[in-house]
Amino acid sequence: MKYALVTGGSRGIGRAICIKLAEMGFSVLVNYQSNKAAAEETKLLIEECGGTAELLPFDVANGAETEKVLSDWQAAHADDYISVLVNNAGIRKDNLMFWMQDDEWNNVLNTSLNGTFYTTRALVKYMMNKKFGRIINIVSISGVNGMAGQTNYSAAKAGVIGLTKSLALETAKKRVTVNAVAPGFIETDMTKDLPQDELKKIVPANRFGKAEEVADLVGFLASEKAGYITGQVINISGGL
Ligand code: NDP
Repeated sequence: MKYALVTGGSRGIGRAICIKLAEMGFSVLVNYQSNKAAAEETKLLIEECGGTAELLPFDVANGAETEKVLSDWQAAHADDYISVLVNNAGIRKDNLMFWMQDDEWNNVLNTSLNGTFYTTRALVKYMMNKKFGRIINIVSISGVNGMAGQTNYSAAKAGVIGLTKSLALETAKKRVTVNAVAPGFIETDMTKDLPQDELKKIVPANRFGKAEEVADLVGFLASEKAGYITGQVINISGGL
């Protein structure tokens, strides 16, 4: 059995990635923080298309909890390992820098940047040991170009981009690739408060993207065919 872990797999882009990886034959570990009903729905959608899934709730921002859940999973699956890790869990707490509160800064950094570190550190050793792995980090155009009102989010995503590039150099010889996918505006819960009709005017493709479009790209990067792509940031933003 090939296993893939998707953090934040209960909703949005993470859910679409879970379904894509299940269609590719992976047994999918669906991580989430608190929305069990949404995670159960992801599991059901996977099973409806003939795949297998297991819920694996933990807070990616909590290093000790992440380490424990993932080492318990490994202990219960001694002959297997998680060969694909998608670090997708993330939150937005937008504010201008001069109003930004400590918790708005810390929560966003702890989830995206520290969360990516904790899950990756827990799993990369098994991938290197088995000489095959795929790590795909979901970042953002905001971390590539910057976005007013998102200094916390941009800093977190830019940090993950740095992690991606450096880790790729550490793991390439062991056939473990590490890439980042940088979406622009994608229709999910995270963007439902944004004025889509206004914002789509600044997108050359004149629309928000779909979670499934991001999932298709992640699916390719997770495949055997993508073995010569590593340390890259791939934008999926309708030209933004
Ligand atoms: P959603 O808000 O729709 O979903 C967020 C997911 O992350 C949920 O599954 C949520 O779990 C999970 N999550 C949040 N915090 C934690 C945590 N501490 N531990 C574990 N899971 C957590 O987001 P999107 O699908 O829109 O975004 C997914 C990723 O894509 C994020 O990293 C985001 O920054 C990035 N992105 C999104 C864009 C967009 O336009 N939507 C654009 C660019 C990047 P639960 O259901 O339990 O709350």
